[in-house]
Amino acid sequence: MSDTLLYEGKAKQVFSTSDPDLLRVHFKDDATAFNGEKRGTICDKGVLNNSISSFFFQLLESKGVETHFVKQLNDRDMLVKKLAIVPIELVVRNVAAGSLAKRFGWEEGVELPSTVVELYYKSDPLGDPLINRSHVAALGIATPQQVEQIEGAGLRVNGVLREFLRQRSVVLVDFKLEFGVFKKDGKILLGDEISPDTCRFWDAETGDKLDKDRFRRDLGGVEDAYQEIWRRLKGECNADA
Ligand code: ADP
Ligand code: UDP
Repeated sequence: MSDTLLYEGKAKQVFSTSDPDLLRVHFKDDATAFNGEKRGTICDKGVLNNSISSFFFQLLESKGVETHFVKQLNDRDMLVKKLAIVPIELVVRNVAAGSLAKRFGWEEGVELPSTVVELYYKSDPLGDPLINRSHVAALGIATPQQVEQIEGAGLRVNGVLREFLRQRSVVLVDFKLEFGVFKKDGKILLGDEISPDTCRFWDAETGDKLDKDRFRRDLGGVEDAYQEIWRRLKGECNADA
């Protein structure tokens, strides 16, 4: 009756449970960047990302966004609804950074006049290429209605998280979401994780990066940044510091 490892990814392991509709997700300390070219570990990242993601999923559920979250089981494990993941990574952006800044030659940190929503094809061998709706149709990975739902949900997530974080002196620069279909009712739910691995968080006062860019760009203080985000979510923000 012990859980079976179904999948091991770069940051998490996915296990079966006694309920065929539910999975146990285990958060590891392993960190990768640049499509797996850079590897390392971030001490206690798994513990923090589990807590941070659980916190965000509960916040979103309370605001009417449907997610895969069932409950946090322990420090590194989360119980979730089993989804057929749509192989699209939805990126939502409020501020120019990362690949967007590079693509258009924009300076990082410029606030975007309107929210940018991008679709990437979730494929490790292809390096997650940027795609558009007609590519989605040609690839046959989602229906136009599903893309509509995914983009709509992404914008709602942005609205909720951006305001929540603003009140904690954190700028939500950009983030990546994954969605999937829950077989039991056919609904599209928000899945995967929402954490400093998958979002850019900048301190609103200092502009300090509080996310995985500290690892990607060898900035140091990676563990402290993840801890700081968790402290802010819990309302332990030291706004005077
Ligand atoms: P990667 O696959 O990119 O290396 P992870 O290490 O985070 O990423 O692995 C977790 C995997 O679990 C991802 O492929 C993700 O799409 C998948 N996943 C996340 N949530 C669910 C879910 N509720 N049901 C099924 N699969 C999920
Ligand atoms: N992101 C992610 N997984 C990916 C690619 C991007 O979680 O495989 C997140 C990343 O953390 C950032 C946002 O999506 O918050 C936009 O990333 P960008 O396209 O700028 O990618 P970069 O090339 O900088 O990783």
